[in-house]
Amino acid sequence: MQNHDGSQKLRRPVHQPIAERPDRMEEACGVYAVLADGQPVANLTYFGLYSLQHRGQESAGIAVFNHGKVRLHKDMGLVSQVFDQDVLARMPGNLAIGHNRYSTTGSSKACNAQPVVLMTRLGPFAFAHNGNLVNAAELRDKLDDGQTEFTSTTDSELIAFAIQQAVNRGMDWKPAIIEAAAMCRGAFSLVIGTVDALYALRDSYGIRPLVFGRLGDAQSGHWVVSSESCGLDIIGAAFEADVDPGELITFRLGDTEPKREQWAEPSARMCVFEMIYFARPDSRFFGESLYSYRQRIGQILARESGVEADLVIGVPDSGIPAAIGFSQASGITFADGLIKNRYVGRTFIQPTQAMREAGIRVKLNPLPDVLAGKRVVVIDDSIVRGTTSRKLVQALRDAGATEVHMRISSPPVTHPCFYGIDTDTQDQLIAARLTVKQIEDHLKVDTLAYLSKEGMVEAAHASSEHFCTACFDGSYPIPMDDSVRSSKLMLEPSGVAASKG
Ligand code: SF4
Repeated sequence: MQNHDGSQKLRRPVHQPIAERPDRMEEACGVYAVLADGQPVANLTYFGLYSLQHRGQESAGIAVFNHGKVRLHKDMGLVSQVFDQDVLARMPGNLAIGHNRYSTTGSSKACNAQPVVLMTRLGPFAFAHNGNLVNAAELRDKLDDGQTEFTSTTDSELIAFAIQQAVNRGMDWKPAIIEAAAMCRGAFSLVIGTVDALYALRDSYGIRPLVFGRLGDAQSGHWVVSSESCGLDIIGAAFEADVDPGELITFRLGDTEPKREQWAEPSARMCVFEMIYFARPDSRFFGESLYSYRQRIGQILARESGVEADLVIGVPDSGIPAAIGFSQASGITFADGLIKNRYVGRTFIQPTQAMREAGIRVKLNPLPDVLAGKRVVVIDDSIVRGTTSRKLVQALRDAGATEVHMRISSPPVTHPCFYGIDTDTQDQLIAARLTVKQIEDHLKVDTLAYLSKEGMVEAAHASSEHFCTACFDGSYPIPMDDSVRSSKLMLEPSGVAASKG
């Protein structure tokens, strides 16, 4: 626990070592905030974070404001491991800031958990960030005044220090937040709590999502901000709108309407992978659930890369809506051919390679009753390194599938992400090194096809200009320093990615 003086006591970490890096893109963080006088804001935030658990499973935290003081509880582990009813009961208040974390910048350790709580001349503030800065080193140099003690290794803490320094130089909260945001380059969806207001801010590209909603009736003055709309649904809050790219929204205690303003010229380039895979299928983007979008990309995939087969199955959970869409468009029967153990988190101790070869399948188990003797189309959302896909194909054949046709509901991932998604370096991405035909041979599938970039955008009913698609084409919308770019773009000569962006 931590009070506003910054002292902090973290419980014993509950995570275990991760034996192997997972073969997929991993979401970075979820942010959440509730401003609601007279409501159990910590409990509401707990449920909100629970609904955003897919956005980060390494640490969780909540900071609650109560009569000018802040109580903070954060730790390593899932939301349900970090909080229990006793902890939440000790956190009364009227404003809560919450965060789920999966590390992209900074290692996985307790000091990097959020929210960050700092003291200023105007009182404490609590801060939570989803995204990733591409100018963290430059920002750290600017902020290093010889007095600031950097306690974590994350870029998020730097934004908080920028706010703290601006306030302590004499600025009020809002201009300080805007000044700090203007110093940042990269992806940042932020929630910031002070003793009498909640601020929600999104970078000018709107790379990571952020929405807000109303809790109770129009006069309640109770507000919720969440990375995704599923975080509003879980506590019965009504969706109001997205926090727009380049927007700052101020929610004040007692006000029945928030103040919305642009802090930066918008240039919307939302991460298209949020729609394909990262966000929850019941979350709403562009006025509809992602379940509908994902079904549509399956339909387009069937149109683009149809094949004769007996069954279409999806890799649970994210491949299922696209598999249903593929079935609808192709007329091939949809079936559950793979069963997923839903309780394998990132903190699970993975079996060794030898154990795996001996047949231990922790996450997915194929159903021979369904698959035996069938020509199977299997739909997955992406291929990153290809190691998991190769094992999956073998497992389907072992279960009796006579043919395996793999269809991927996104284009080939050829470039790493610098904007808050944890990806391998470029040389680890199989599609950066091999052609589709070579990947087909490597996976030992009968055929392999990916969704086209045009199909991915068409399904969203929006122009490609609205999205970041850099991991598919290297067109990075936010310029990066050479050192940042060279950290992951192993296969490209220096400067190539910059010229594309
Ligand atoms: S590079 Fe890919 S994962 Fe990263 S923000 Fe852009 S589309 Fe999303």
